[in-house]
Amino acid sequence: MKPVIALVGRPNVGKSTLFNRLTRSRDALVADLPGLTRDRHYGEGRVGERPFLVIDTGGFEPVAKDGIMHEMAKQTKQAVAEADIVIFIVDGRQGLTPHDKTITDFLRKSGRSVMLVVNKSEGMKYTSVTAEFYELGMGDPYVISAAHGDGVADLVEESLDLAFSQRPAEEAEPEDKDRGIKIAIVGRPNVGKSTLVNTLLGEERVIAFDMPGTTRDSIEIPFERDGKKYTLIDTAGIRRRGKVFEAIEKFSVVKTLQSISEANVVLLLLDAQQDISEQDAHIAGFVLETGRALVVGVNKWDGLTSDRRDEIKMDMDRKLNFLSFAKFHFISALKSTGITPLMKSIDSAYAAAMSNLTTPKLTRALIEAVEHQQPRRKGSIRPKLRYAHQGGMNPPIVVIHGNALESIEDNYKRYLEKHFRETFSLVGTPLRIEFRSSR
Ligand code: GDP
Ligand code: GDP
Repeated sequence: MKPVIALVGRPNVGKSTLFNRLTRSRDALVADLPGLTRDRHYGEGRVGERPFLVIDTGGFEPVAKDGIMHEMAKQTKQAVAEADIVIFIVDGRQGLTPHDKTITDFLRKSGRSVMLVVNKSEGMKYTSVTAEFYELGMGDPYVISAAHGDGVADLVEESLDLAFSQRPAEEAEPEDKDRGIKIAIVGRPNVGKSTLVNTLLGEERVIAFDMPGTTRDSIEIPFERDGKKYTLIDTAGIRRRGKVFEAIEKFSVVKTLQSISEANVVLLLLDAQQDISEQDAHIAGFVLETGRALVVGVNKWDGLTSDRRDEIKMDMDRKLNFLSFAKFHFISALKSTGITPLMKSIDSAYAAAMSNLTTPKLTRALIEAVEHQQPRRKGSIRPKLRYAHQGGMNPPIVVIHGNALESIEDNYKRYLEKHFRETFSLVGTPLRIEFRSSR
């Protein structure tokens, strides 16, 4: 399981600047997605070979309500409680404020490991920028400049060391190749996750129901269907009770995020009997941010009137249009209908996510796209796209090389994405486009 780092601090101390720096390589996908209006708060980062998850707990904003900090969103508190490490950011230019003290009190009660970080410290002496923050009683502060990057890599290294030192020794993970496609089933409470898991496992041969060595309360269940291997990984929000799985009431952002990031393909379940909620869209947003392949199951399709069916379809078109790359399936976990085509889509989403796109093929597709439509000039400069290579899988990353690529507009980037998607039949996976200019 990837360690979870929560960024905490009052507004304007630099949380989102640090967040963006930690997750920078991931920006390509989420920037300007039409329909995805929320702020980014969850992402994946990596230092060297070590991946981690990062949460920007935006919920610490004070509201003028009795002059005290407003009640933090439940999920924010939960994120802090479930994080391995909390990075508590204060502002070295503004100095210590009463609000910092309030947050300190909260964090102390949370019992989490906290690293106190003084941001905006570029060009300042350690002793002078940190002096007043000793009053918080959190030990020696780290100093960084999120904007310039000073001290950030060391901070993350240390926080990961701390996170790992706190964990019980983990058993060796089984080899990926033995596990087949790793699937995470996610969705808000009551959409039918545990029903679906029971349906899938009830019908099919479970290879090893009792997996030894699952740490924390993670679940990992290999199963076979039509001769193919799959592994259900750590599906947040359900728990095994005897031979069956049951829903647990609590929804956990952290667990959902963790299970998404461990999967190859995410199966997002929606409830056709309810309208699409903000929580559904948020979960879909996490999937996009991690770049995992996605299949959407619209569950409880049994027994709906045709009016209701039209209604929910319209609702999905309106609220989830940023998921147009994914296949939607109308299923009933309870009656076990629609499951076979759903699993087929999981297979093909996985295949698309793992596509091997060679440089000649990508470059040919790029040239085709440019011949059909040139990028717009910016002043006297016209971006020049020269060639493309594949920079990663799951999600596929297309790295485009050329000149003046920073002036390419988002519209054009979307056009390229669509072109690559169509050329290589990439259904069910996000696709990232990155530009690398040489001068
Ligand atoms: P948040 O509200 O905590 O997410 O804060 P932001 O990341 O939005 O940053 C607030 C302001 O502080 C922005 O104007 C940033 O450009 C600025 N800022 C962030 N990090 C640094 C830094 O390391 N040095 C300086 N000088 N400014 C910074
Ligand atoms: P979870 O919280 O996502 O794990 O949801 P559950 O699997 O516990 O399901 C919540 C409720 O929805 C239960 O009462 C299920 O019986 C019901 N349910 C699940 N799948 C279906 C379905 O396909 N059709 C109908 N009508 N009800 C379902």
